[in-house]
Amino acid sequence: MTKPKHVLGISGGKDSAALAIYLRNKYPQLDIHYYFCDTGKELDETYQLIERLEGYLGKPIERLESKEAKDLQKNPFDYFYQAYRGYLPSNVARWCTKKMKLEPFEAYVGEIPTISYVGIRGDEDREGYISRKANIQSIFPFRRNIWSEEVIYKVLGNTEQSQIIGIYENFLSGKKLDKVIEIIKQPLVFEERNSDQNRRVAQEKLNLLFDQGLPEFNQVAFHYLKDKGYPISLEEDYPLLHDDEILVRDDIFRLLEESEVGVPGYYEKLDYEVDGETGQYARSRSGCYFCFFQQKIEWIWLYEQHPALYTQAMEYENEKEGFTWNQNESLKDLLHPNRMKQIKMDHLNRMDKEKAKGSKYLLDKVIDTEKDCLACFG
Ligand code: SF4
Repeated sequence: MTKPKHVLGISGGKDSAALAIYLRNKYPQLDIHYYFCDTGKELDETYQLIERLEGYLGKPIERLESKEAKDLQKNPFDYFYQAYRGYLPSNVARWCTKKMKLEPFEAYVGEIPTISYVGIRGDEDREGYISRKANIQSIFPFRRNIWSEEVIYKVLGNTEQSQIIGIYENFLSGKKLDKVIEIIKQPLVFEERNSDQNRRVAQEKLNLLFDQGLPEFNQVAFHYLKDKGYPISLEEDYPLLHDDEILVRDDIFRLLEESEVGVPGYYEKLDYEVDGETGQYARSRSGCYFCFFQQKIEWIWLYEQHPALYTQAMEYENEKEGFTWNQNESLKDLLHPNRMKQIKMDHLNRMDKEKAKGSKYLLDKVIDTEKDCLACFG
């Protein structure tokens, strides 16, 4: 039987690096291919992390680039920046992720049935920016629920109840099976145009089933998918079905430290002074140094820690056309001493509020990347 290809995208951030380490250590039998979609505009710290990770994994991390740019030997971002006539990407016009991350990944995979490992942690609530191609199936090893939302909706579907109960009968018996049947027979009731509520309803039912046995649920999902054309149906057995480990933020840092791969250099907290007070900043994400997702304090970090890159980011802006990285404020305006001071003061105040709440991971709370772009920052 043809086997699916197993792939893991390294973004240059902490979670995907930790996932590669975790899977290599725990499931060495999985022949995973690693790749990195290079925008050509990453920080040196990202490339350094990738090199250290390659050393640890003992395998190359394949660099993927857009074919169009590569054929012309152009920097990927600069090529598309010209093609889009200087129209900068933004969170409502994400041509950068599409052209430099998703398309090169899909070209790399082609039509081969592929299992793609995604580094969303057990303490996050998001699905991420993942490929929707039918031959690519995403698996989330850090979470309690390793399956994609699409798979879960199928397994929990009201029309599938008798098939799911039938498969469960191979893995559970007695009171546990009775309980599972009771849960499955409760139909999912969805509201029109209320996807958040519907997701909550499905999650509640899923949690009830997980509580009756996670490996058993995974076995049921695996067998259910057998005739549904998913890449995983090409596996006779799959080791992650038996896994009930959930990894959260602390585990990610532990994995990176214990492996000596370390966290990406841009995470290092550095002091800044403002109005006689001292705050700390860092960059919290991988991806392009000029990424429009970054917060104002990260732009200040870029200006103070990598001034040449800040200047290059400024050169992409065209104020006359309204093409700026931040809405209503150019990078030139952001450098006004009063504006820089205000950004630092705002950041300090937010840090103080988090401190008062006793929050762990102060900087991450203030510069939250969790809802951004998985392809770029995971
Ligand atoms: S890092 Fe930001 S700018 Fe770069 S591709 Fe990702 S979303 Fe776009």
